[in-house]
Amino acid sequence: MCRLCGVWPSTEVDHVIAGDDHALSNLQGVCGPCHRAKSSSEGGRAAAAARHPARVRPREPHPGELPRPTDRPDRQP
Ligand SMILES: [Zn+2]
Repeated sequence: MCRLCGVWPSTEVDHVIAGDDHALSNLQGVCGPCHRAKSSSEGGRAAAAARHPARVRPREPHPGELPRPTDRPDRQP
Protein backbone atom coordinates (compact mmCIF):
# COMPACT_ATOMS: atom_id res chain seq x y z
CA MET A 1 0.00 0.00 0.00
CA CYS A 2 1.26 3.47 -0.89
CA ARG A 3 2.29 5.16 2.34
CA LEU A 4 1.35 8.55 0.94
CA CYS A 5 -2.09 8.06 -0.62
CA GLY A 6 -3.16 4.57 0.47
CA VAL A 7 -3.59 3.10 -3.01
CA TRP A 8 -2.78 -0.61 -3.30
CA PRO A 9 -0.28 -1.95 -4.20
CA SER A 10 2.77 0.22 -3.74
CA THR A 11 5.03 -0.27 -6.73
CA GLU A 12 8.07 1.83 -5.90
CA VAL A 13 10.41 2.37 -2.99
CA ASP A 14 10.85 5.92 -1.76
CA HIS A 15 13.46 7.37 0.57
CA VAL A 16 11.61 8.98 3.50
CA ILE A 17 14.50 11.41 3.84
CA ALA A 18 16.09 11.96 0.43
CA GLY A 19 19.73 11.01 0.21
CA ASP A 20 21.91 7.93 0.34
CA ASP A 21 20.49 6.35 3.50
CA HIS A 22 19.15 3.01 2.24
CA ALA A 23 18.28 1.66 5.70
CA LEU A 24 14.87 -0.02 5.86
CA SER A 25 13.74 2.59 8.39
CA ASN A 26 14.31 5.26 5.71
CA LEU A 27 12.41 3.40 2.97
CA GLN A 28 8.70 3.27 2.28
CA GLY A 29 6.51 1.76 -0.40
CA VAL A 30 4.70 4.27 -2.59
CA CYS A 31 2.83 4.31 -5.89
CA GLY A 32 4.37 5.72 -9.07
CA PRO A 33 2.43 9.01 -9.15
CA CYS A 34 3.18 9.78 -5.49
CA HIS A 35 6.85 8.91 -5.97
CA ARG A 36 7.18 11.20 -8.99
CA ALA A 37 5.36 14.03 -7.22
CA LYS A 38 7.52 13.68 -4.09
CA SER A 39 10.75 13.40 -6.06
CA SER A 40 9.96 16.44 -8.18
CA SER A 41 9.03 18.46 -5.11
CA GLU A 42 12.38 17.54 -3.63
CA GLY A 43 13.68 19.23 -6.70
CA GLY A 44 16.89 17.34 -7.24
CA ARG A 45 16.76 17.47 -10.98
CA ALA A 46 15.12 20.86 -11.14
CA ALA A 47 17.77 22.36 -8.91
CA ALA A 48 20.53 20.73 -10.92
CA ALA A 49 19.02 22.03 -14.13
CA ALA A 50 18.83 25.51 -12.65
CA ARG A 51 22.49 25.35 -11.63
CA HIS A 52 23.58 23.98 -15.00
CA PRO A 53 21.26 25.29 -17.70
CA ALA A 54 21.75 23.72 -21.09
CA ARG A 55 24.38 25.62 -22.93
CA VAL A 56 23.85 25.55 -26.65
CA ARG A 57 26.62 27.08 -28.66
CA PRO A 58 26.14 27.85 -32.32
CA ARG A 59 28.16 25.69 -34.66
CA GLU A 60 31.44 27.21 -35.70
CA PRO A 61 32.52 26.63 -39.29
CA HIS A 62 35.60 24.51 -39.82
CA PRO A 63 38.63 26.72 -40.59
CA GLY A 64 39.10 24.91 -43.90
CA GLU A 65 35.48 25.28 -44.87
CA LEU A 66 34.95 27.65 -47.79
CA PRO A 67 31.97 29.95 -47.61
CA ARG A 68 29.19 28.90 -49.91
CA PRO A 69 28.59 31.27 -52.85
CA THR A 70 25.21 32.23 -51.37
CA ASP A 71 26.94 33.34 -48.16
CA ARG A 72 29.16 35.82 -49.99
CA PRO A 73 27.53 39.15 -50.77
CA ASP A 74 30.08 39.93 -53.50
CA ARG A 75 29.01 36.92 -55.59
CA GLN A 76 25.69 36.11 -57.06
CA PRO A 77 24.88 32.39 -57.25
ZN1 LIG B 1 0.41 7.07 -3.76
